[in-house]
Amino acid sequence: MDCIFCKIANGEIPAATLYEDDDFRVIMDMGPAAKGHSLILPKQHYANIYELPEELAVKAFSLAKKMATAMTKALNTDGFNIVQNNGAAAGQTVFHFHMHLIPRYENDGAGFGWNPGSLTDADREEVLKKVAAVLAE
Ligand code: AMP
Ligand code: ZN
Repeated sequence: MDCIFCKIANGEIPAATLYEDDDFRVIMDMGPAAKGHSLILPKQHYANIYELPEELAVKAFSLAKKMATAMTKALNTDGFNIVQNNGAAAGQTVFHFHMHLIPRYENDGAGFGWNPGSLTDADREEVLKKVAAVLAE
């Protein structure tokens, strides 16, 4: 399989590495939304959060906390986004699971987000009912 993030995570392609352990490599994003934007990459290939084993999901979020804390201190950020996209419809462009670590600064103009809609009664009832049914399976 020809996966760029597999090659980077396992050191076959060099990347600016902030952190590495047995399971993950954290690299700087080559198209940063703001200064310091980095990516947590598991060394094993999983396309998305659905494929990621629970044990690694726990470790990934623990590492996200560690990195966010260190980067906030090191870069003196004003805020911090942790973003994780799954599927093309959600903006995923590289189909190897990754978490975005995005330092934020007042007026940085990074400008990502969503247009808030409004929660309708019908949507609320439908979503509550459907998700509860799947969780109960
Ligand atoms: P996503 O849209 O969540 O799949 O994010 C993919 C991210 O990977 C984007 O922010 C890209 O800028 C970044 N990216 C893609 N290729 C590379 C690469 N070779 N080195 C570093 N970052 C990359
Ligand atoms: Zn991969």
